[in-house]
Amino acid sequence: MGLLTGKFAVITGAASARGLGKATAKLFAEHGATVAILDLDESAAKAAAADIGAQHVGLACDVTDKAACEAAVAALLDQWGRIDVLVNNAGITQPLKSLQIEPQNYDAVMDVSLRGTLYMSQACVPAMQKQKSGSVVNLSSVSAQRGGGIFGGPHYSAAKAGILGLTKAMAREFAPDQVRFNAICPGFIATDITGGKLTPEMKEMILEGIPMGRAGEASDVAGCALFLASDLSAYCTGTEVDVNGGSLI
Ligand code: NAD
Repeated sequence: MGLLTGKFAVITGAASARGLGKATAKLFAEHGATVAILDLDESAAKAAAADIGAQHVGLACDVTDKAACEAAVAALLDQWGRIDVLVNNAGITQPLKSLQIEPQNYDAVMDVSLRGTLYMSQACVPAMQKQKSGSVVNLSSVSAQRGGGIFGGPHYSAAKAGILGLTKAMAREFAPDQVRFNAICPGFIATDITGGKLTPEMKEMILEGIPMGRAGEASDVAGCALFLASDLSAYCTGTEVDVNGGSLI
């Protein structure tokens, strides 16, 4: 039996073919979950869902739009009657230095990470409270812990640090309802967000900082998400799990 048999899971930003969200959706499906893939583009979301199996759902949802989050979750609750797992995975990066950040850059990065995580959680938590069970997994980043990174920019570090605060505050607030909130801090993982933008020198510099000597795979993060989504982590809430090959040792 799979670790998520009979569970219903929502994953944002999961249409990107090489992304962490899609890898997580695939692993959840392999463990018996029915999955909804939410992303900006409806046909991409539907195609990604169909790719992991016919029973899965793809929906358009811009997570910066509170009404869109509410509408997507209402449609899923109509269909499923419950939501067991939410993975707040949607995120964007901008490779800017502090003095280059314009107000619209700041808003865009903050909005996807912080408004998106809050709005999707607000939409899903009432159903989880009624069920007296639920697991929310938020994607933070090593950039929140060590400051900066090659891709992210300081506003990305700030947004991902904000996710850690939101995760702990919501974990504390909803623990009495048995609704858990945990965060994953991936290090350097090979996906579209990181791929294609690296010179060989940049790659060498990054790998020098990773004791395990390799970039992470999307499946490395998906495995951690599976643990946090499933009852294996039933007594974990308000935690952050590093998936970074030892980058912070
Ligand atoms: P990705 O770019 O491959 O996928 C991100 C997805 O989010 C895309 O499908 C995109 O369409 C979607 N998205 C963007 N804005 C959205 C919005 N407003 N509403 C809904 N969907 C939206 O990224 P990834 O590498 O798979 O990263 C996934 C998450 O993990 C992100 O939050 C990222 O910040 C975080 N992360 C990634 C790495 C890494 O090395 N790849 C490291 C640390 C943290």
